[in-house]
Amino acid sequence: MTQPCFMTMGELSAKLEAGEVTSEEAVLSYIERINSVDEKINAYVTVDREGAIEQARDADRLRASGSKGPLLGAPLAIKDLVTTRNLRTTCGSKILENFIPPHDAFVIEKLKQAGAVVLGKTNMDEFAMGSSTETSYFGPTRNPWDTDKIPGGSSGGSAAAVAADLCAAALGSDTGGSIRQPSALCGIVGLKPTYGLVSRFGLVAFASSLDQIGPMTKDVTDSAILLSAIAGHDPNDSTSADRPVDDYTAALDKGVSGMNIGVAEEYFTEGIDPEVDSSVRNAISVLKEQGANIKTVSLPHTKYAVPTYYVIAPAEASSNLARYDGVKYGYRSESPKGLMEMYKKTRMEGFGPEVKRRIMLGAYALSAGYYDAYYLKAQKVRTLIRNDFVDVFKEVSAIISPTTPAPAFGIGEKSDDPLQMYLSDIFTISCNLAGIPGLSLPCGFTSGGLPIGAQIQGDFFSEPTVLRVARALEKGLKLDGGKPAINQDG
Ligand code: GLN
Repeated sequence: MTQPCFMTMGELSAKLEAGEVTSEEAVLSYIERINSVDEKINAYVTVDREGAIEQARDADRLRASGSKGPLLGAPLAIKDLVTTRNLRTTCGSKILENFIPPHDAFVIEKLKQAGAVVLGKTNMDEFAMGSSTETSYFGPTRNPWDTDKIPGGSSGGSAAAVAADLCAAALGSDTGGSIRQPSALCGIVGLKPTYGLVSRFGLVAFASSLDQIGPMTKDVTDSAILLSAIAGHDPNDSTSADRPVDDYTAALDKGVSGMNIGVAEEYFTEGIDPEVDSSVRNAISVLKEQGANIKTVSLPHTKYAVPTYYVIAPAEASSNLARYDGVKYGYRSESPKGLMEMYKKTRMEGFGPEVKRRIMLGAYALSAGYYDAYYLKAQKVRTLIRNDFVDVFKEVSAIISPTTPAPAFGIGEKSDDPLQMYLSDIFTISCNLAGIPGLSLPCGFTSGGLPIGAQIQGDFFSEPTVLRVARALEKGLKLDGGKPAINQDG
């Protein structure tokens, strides 16, 4: 039998159900693999070896007494900005280096109720600000397909952990692309749900009008399974939608025959890498072969998405990050002279350069005299971007595009050029500004063997359709790009 760590979550779940493997054996197989592989990629900030074994034994006992479920005993990794009770949650920052939350996030409670095992917490760009996982206080994560390359970000640790078989599946968060972009660059499936579908209670806030938690998995079926477990109304998050949770697995295999699928010219811009372009066009032809009607659509305000996001997200971040002042929790500067100096030195020493840049940009955009010119204007453009999608979804059920303009770039290549870094999210940001769901799945490989991702976006709360299109594509493409380089000896 394949070692449990190399199975998808669905496969592992079937083996657990059949009694062919126990959750404890699965956890031990992951721990062994983390011990031998993670020093090469640095996907985890914290591995809870003992806690995970205990949780696995609990899951095995529950199963022995008749409990069932797709997540019962499944070992998962959690991005390190989702709070976990009694387990360190750092947000990739020195300021929270030793923060041990007193409570579980809503999604963690849901996962624990479903019997899932939390293996550990994954590396990320500091406070989720970045596209490469290089801004983490705990050092960069490396791409399992080529360790000289970045894994994408900010959920780069989760993406690398899934790709390198260091967990069965993971959770990430996405404010402007942080689930989908690293998923594309690491060859896995990542879904950003509709705004309001998954509660953010216990998600450390970056930009509250954009943040969503979502699944990062080895295949589309796992994505549907994990989404089913974490979606749902939560009175503790006032933006949580009070609507019944759909069945995300039921329609997965219904295919795309007769479905209208849009291709927006704005996503095939000049700067796009030729291999990304041809691989996504191939994916479009596969959907066509399966009976989808491919329609050209237009999202005319797409070009304003990056500048709009870089006003709104930093503005919200500057407000959300005001709470890290050294008073109640987190890092505090040693022996300051007086309260003001304590605040200043704590923040100066505790935050890294990218976080400081965002706080300054945001505070500037919100300051008297500039508020109308920048923040208010950005909010108006945001409505135009959202309305583009509302119009297009009158004609089509989903939109297919590249997830990123290029495959994974080299570690250090864009660290000194924030603007180039910000442009990595050019195709993922509109989705957050509009609040719609977006999923990235592998659609091919470059000649150098790096994964390429296709993005499927859908209307508000149309996750069942988005997943169905993705599943059809996954089946039609029958990708076999081998395994990440890091797995070849494993
Ligand atoms: N890369 C984008 C940023 O740096 C998006 C990050 C995210 O989605 N958390 O803000």
